[in-house]
Amino acid sequence: MPHIIQFKCRACDGDIAIGAEPAGRATCPGCGNDQEVRVPPTLQTSGVVAICVACGHEDLYVQKDFNRNLGVAIVTAGVIASTYFFNRREPFYAMASLVITAAIDLAVYSIVGLVTVCYSCHAVYRGFDRNLKHEPFDLKKLEKYGGRTPRFGA
Ligand SMILES: [Zn+2]
Ligand SMILES: [Zn+2]
Repeated sequence: MPHIIQFKCRACDGDIAIGAEPAGRATCPGCGNDQEVRVPPTLQTSGVVAICVACGHEDLYVQKDFNRNLGVAIVTAGVIASTYFFNRREPFYAMASLVITAAIDLAVYSIVGLVTVCYSCHAVYRGFDRNLKHEPFDLKKLEKYGGRTPRFGA
């Protein structure tokens, strides 16, 4: 899996995506702002996130990388299929469509990987191994760490 780091541009709030190659700056594709990042050489070799490259804080959490749009699409397709069969007076198939939809939804949810997310700046790290120090999302930690001032300049 390729390493992808996504974070917000401090100038325009647009998305910036970079790889795990060691870097000191990243350019925003939206507004052209050049922003400081700190991608250490160890990030690519270890494949584990220790410190957020976008803000320098080390409080991160892990969560399932479940694409909400995909989830909604699966459920919508299931409801359409179910309505179709129900209108044709085939309640068995209508029910079966919903059950299959739920099963697919669950299967997709269980096979998706984990992403690492920064509490402070919400940078998202895809394709990295889980750092065992990172726990699932905790609202208390978000209240404590969310939106903190980055440790290095723009
Ligand atoms: Zn920008
Ligand atoms: Zn961060």
